[in-house]
Amino acid sequence: MAAQIIDGKALALSVRAEIAREVEQFHEHSGIRPGLAAVLVGDDPASAIYVRNKKIACEKAGLYPEEYKLPSSTSQEDLYALIQKLNNDPKIHGILVQLPLPNHIESKIILEAVSPHKDADGFHPYNVGRLVEGDPVFTACTPKGVIHMIESTGQSMSGKRAVVIGRSNIVGKPVALLLMHRHATVTVCHSRTQDLPAVCREADIVVAAIGRAQFVTADMIKEGAIVIDVGINRREDGSLVGDVDFEPVKEKAGWITPVPGGVGPMTIAMLLQNTLESAKRSVTPS
Ligand code: NDP
Repeated sequence: MAAQIIDGKALALSVRAEIAREVEQFHEHSGIRPGLAAVLVGDDPASAIYVRNKKIACEKAGLYPEEYKLPSSTSQEDLYALIQKLNNDPKIHGILVQLPLPNHIESKIILEAVSPHKDADGFHPYNVGRLVEGDPVFTACTPKGVIHMIESTGQSMSGKRAVVIGRSNIVGKPVALLLMHRHATVTVCHSRTQDLPAVCREADIVVAAIGRAQFVTADMIKEGAIVIDVGINRREDGSLVGDVDFEPVKEKAGWITPVPGGVGPMTIAMLLQNTLESAKRSVTPS
């Protein structure tokens, strides 16, 4: 039987509607609108679209967005000073610095300049450390979205075998930690993994975060598995495909996410959720 499609668009819309309700309730009680500042340096068209979409999503959910579009010539010192200003601005509860930054700016220095208490993307080492401890404050948005999508199947992660393909700091590693904290038995695979298909075939849950078009094929998937495709790859004709060979894998998996319309929309929803949670903590610190 063909897999059930985990519809990221529909799921994200329902999460965003719930966030909008909570934002209004929170605003009624506290007079505060959760504020998200997005900082874009340079004129990368894809980054500009991401930032614009995040701003629109903020407005629709009743959050307060601020957008900073800086020229690519912006110095590291000036960017650092802007981050400090935002760190001290009580209207702002989440700060996101759109990556990549121009080459003359050290991303690590800027990301670590963001207050860990406003780190809506969850990239600050403090928040990564809290995630390792199993007591996360801000969790990176894409990994948080991945877990939400697995939860939406109604299947427990506890005791299940999970394989994460990819070990990046922004996707693979945090996804693996979140699965482990939900009591899955987790294997992390990467470019040096031997016999990756055999490892994948053991998995009840497969998360692909590789960046290689249609890399995960049906012979790598166990019958009935949950398959979450994080990859976004642009083909020569301009269309987008994931890391999973969707059509044949769909015939074998139990649940599968499409690309586009899968993990991508959830990432923005989780950014809004992180900002709302941060605003709530600003009045009742936990
Ligand atoms: P990275 O390039 O940082 O990491 C890719 C990982 O894949 C690495 O760990 C690499 O292994 C592993 N890998 C590469 N080739 C192979 C191979 N042949 N076999 C096994 N593993 C391999 O990518 P990201 O984690 O940043 O992103 C992954 C994908 O997810 C991309 O397509 C990206 O566009 C997408 N993405 C989507 C988001 C969304 O919102 N939907 C958000 C973020 C990313 P090694 O470490 O050994 O090099």
